[in-house]
Amino acid sequence: MNGVHFVAGTPNAYIHKPGLLASAGEWMARYGKRALIVTGSKSWAAAGETLARSLTESGVTYELAFYRGECSYGEVARLQSLVDPQAELIVGVGAGKVIDTAKKLSNDIGKPLVTIPTLSATCAPVTNLSVMYTDEGVYVDFPVFYRNALLTLVDTDVLAKAPVRYLVAGIGDTIAKWYESVACSAGKPANLPTIGGVQAAKLCYDTLIRHSRTAIEDAKAGRSSEALQLVIDAVILFSGLVGGLGEDNCRSAAAHAVHNGLTALPDSHRAYHGEKVAYGILVQLMLENRPAAEIDELIGFYKDIGLPTKLADMGIGRRLSEEELDAVVKVALSPEGTMGNMPFEVTADMVLDAIRRVEERGQNL
Ligand SMILES: [Zn+2]
Repeated sequence: MNGVHFVAGTPNAYIHKPGLLASAGEWMARYGKRALIVTGSKSWAAAGETLARSLTESGVTYELAFYRGECSYGEVARLQSLVDPQAELIVGVGAGKVIDTAKKLSNDIGKPLVTIPTLSATCAPVTNLSVMYTDEGVYVDFPVFYRNALLTLVDTDVLAKAPVRYLVAGIGDTIAKWYESVACSAGKPANLPTIGGVQAAKLCYDTLIRHSRTAIEDAKAGRSSEALQLVIDAVILFSGLVGGLGEDNCRSAAAHAVHNGLTALPDSHRAYHGEKVAYGILVQLMLENRPAAEIDELIGFYKDIGLPTKLADMGIGRRLSEEELDAVVKVALSPEGTMGNMPFEVTADMVLDAIRRVEERGQNL
């Protein structure tokens, strides 16, 4: 919003209902008859059969490109070499990194994008940016695009059958929007897009605190319930609207910066994005010196739904060396990251101290 503001960086259309995948071809055929589908093997196992049938019924031909596990510049370049110049649509089918890869590819080559999430783990299907990593999975940066997805097709039935841990991680990632958009927008112009972004974040927060427990039970039973639909809309759509409306005034802040820092530890890669972000929220709250009661209440919610409250919960049970902590802090404070969106200066010592305090609290509770 510093000079340029993309009014509502959202998909042209977001459609969410149970069983939608069976009519995905009809939707896509309105825009193109040849597609390149970027997907992963697990994602394609979850959605491929129904999607392929629907595309064939609607006369849409497609080629499949399996991505190699990281949304990196190298991977996008590799996929670009596979694109048939006749392709009219780039389709991302999968989780956040697959979709971000397809999104970067579609923007690099100027072809329309369709996003079909197979997990409710991030807002990647609706946001106008890709989070880039090295081939080894270390955070690099996030290019913001001037065009977004043409279609986002969300099938509740597919998401209800996905492993529940991804849903829980998505809830963590989305709860962060509330804390981060408030921090990021502090002291910025209170224009309507910014206020709208923060309100979208509040709506996400309230919806998730209220409905997550039921939605998780329903997902465990594979039920496309109302609670699950509310949570999915919060995690995928409204979460994306936070930055979609507020742009640079409502970006990530310390929670995601700490997530980025944790990616410097190879064993943190077993933890999901939203789990590391959830931990990062606790670190942010410590940086902000929030009241203990507020932090404990959030920790209680984490424990209820299965989000990590300490490093050991993410499989990092050992004592970290000085060098490891330095690496975490260095990436957390990287100028390409989002720590600079905090309304006060954050130093390496402050991050180390906040992590130490989160660990103490996580052990004690
Ligand atoms: Zn995130």
